[in-house]
Amino acid sequence: MFDTLQDRLTATFRNLRGKGRLSESDVNEALREIRLALLEADVNLSVVKEFIAACREKLTGAEISQALNPTQQIVKVVNEELIGILGGQTREVRFAKNPPTVIMLAGLQGSGKTTLAGKLGKWLKDSKHHPLLVAADLQRPNAVNQLQVVGQRAGVAVFAPEPGNGIGDPVAVARASIEEAKRKLYDVVIVDTAGRLGVDAELMQQAIDIRNAVNPDEVLFVVDAMIGQDAVNTAQAFAQGVGFDGVVLSKLDGDARGGAALSIARVTGKPVMFASNGENLKDFDLFHPDRMASRILDMGDLLTLIEQAEKTFDAGQAQKAAEKLISGKQFGLDDFLQQMQAVRKMGPMSKILGMMPGMGQYKDQIGNIDEKEIDRIEAIIYSMTPAERANPDILNGSRRTRIAKGSGTTVAEVNGLVNRFAETRKMMSQLGAMGALGMPGMGRK
Ligand code: GDP
Repeated sequence: MFDTLQDRLTATFRNLRGKGRLSESDVNEALREIRLALLEADVNLSVVKEFIAACREKLTGAEISQALNPTQQIVKVVNEELIGILGGQTREVRFAKNPPTVIMLAGLQGSGKTTLAGKLGKWLKDSKHHPLLVAADLQRPNAVNQLQVVGQRAGVAVFAPEPGNGIGDPVAVARASIEEAKRKLYDVVIVDTAGRLGVDAELMQQAIDIRNAVNPDEVLFVVDAMIGQDAVNTAQAFAQGVGFDGVVLSKLDGDARGGAALSIARVTGKPVMFASNGENLKDFDLFHPDRMASRILDMGDLLTLIEQAEKTFDAGQAQKAAEKLISGKQFGLDDFLQQMQAVRKMGPMSKILGMMPGMGQYKDQIGNIDEKEIDRIEAIIYSMTPAERANPDILNGSRRTRIAKGSGTTVAEVNGLVNRFAETRKMMSQLGAMGALGMPGMGRK
């Protein structure tokens, strides 16, 4: 899902690395790439235009935080806008004050309504509801049977007209199901309606009649994400016809581009409430715009990290440290201590590293990070005199013994730290282009 979009956005962000600050032409170039990436992902043109305009405004406005480097600035803005077009906050189901809550499903034939009824039924049952599925799709010969099979798999009761018993009036079935739910104390009724192959006036009228008969708390429009931009057109037709409160995206697992998912909330003005991504009952969940955006950006929890960095970092201090570090010798253990403490303010080291993208593969090592080891490093530096911290080269044998004693560590540990520090400092000054590390404030040359 979203593969090409992800690749192209990541490449755009990569190109910005190492830049000290964003010039107007950097912003233009990045926005041009992002625009192409969205269009290639089949996102609706008007949505793309709005998206780019909003990003441009934020990137050229005064909202940019000093604590972020150029890549982070762009990622932050793109993330915010992605969440926006995906519908903002997660939209929970509105349950009726007086049960049963009635949820009606509408959509084209084959969009995944019946499958969804089962998934939603199971999802509700797992969260301690007592749902009833209703077969009000009497158009397709096998639809009632299909819902019964799905209901059985989900372990959820199904209300269906008796075979041979004057099958034909879905409005009456839907109405009767509400009475049944009240009698048998089901607290949620999920009404599956007949789909249509295209947008067809007669079937649309039937959906309207069912809606008027059962007065649903939520009308969910189910749409196959694989049909791309057609999903948007169909959604508009349903919005004008039966109307709906929320969208369910089905078959997201088959939607490599993501155009429907990225366009539909903005175009219809209705939130995406659920997403289905497979044929099994468990392949289903509430739709979280923020999680989806960070998945598209493939940024792990970098965004959380960015937020914390903004709160914690003193950009001026970080900048000074970075300049010292890059210029070589002047960067001392005192600067190192300061930086380490700034990072530690954000939380335990293992958690911070765990939030960095691409760190998944080092999960075990990260889990093994011993916070006490970091405490020992701090203790060692604290036991040094200011002159020793500023210039670790003066640390001879007797100084090291004194420091080990003072910090409750061993000379070997002191040596280990000093050697590692010397190596790192050498490497850093060679690297010079600190932007590659993505540390806030460190991208400036
Ligand atoms: P309805 O006509 O709207 O009731 O659609 P169905 O529920 O019968 O679904 C149509 C087809 O899509 C079936 O073969 C389902 O197994 C399949 N399907 C439904 N949801 C998903 C999904 O999220 N992912 C995939 N891959 N297939 C799905």
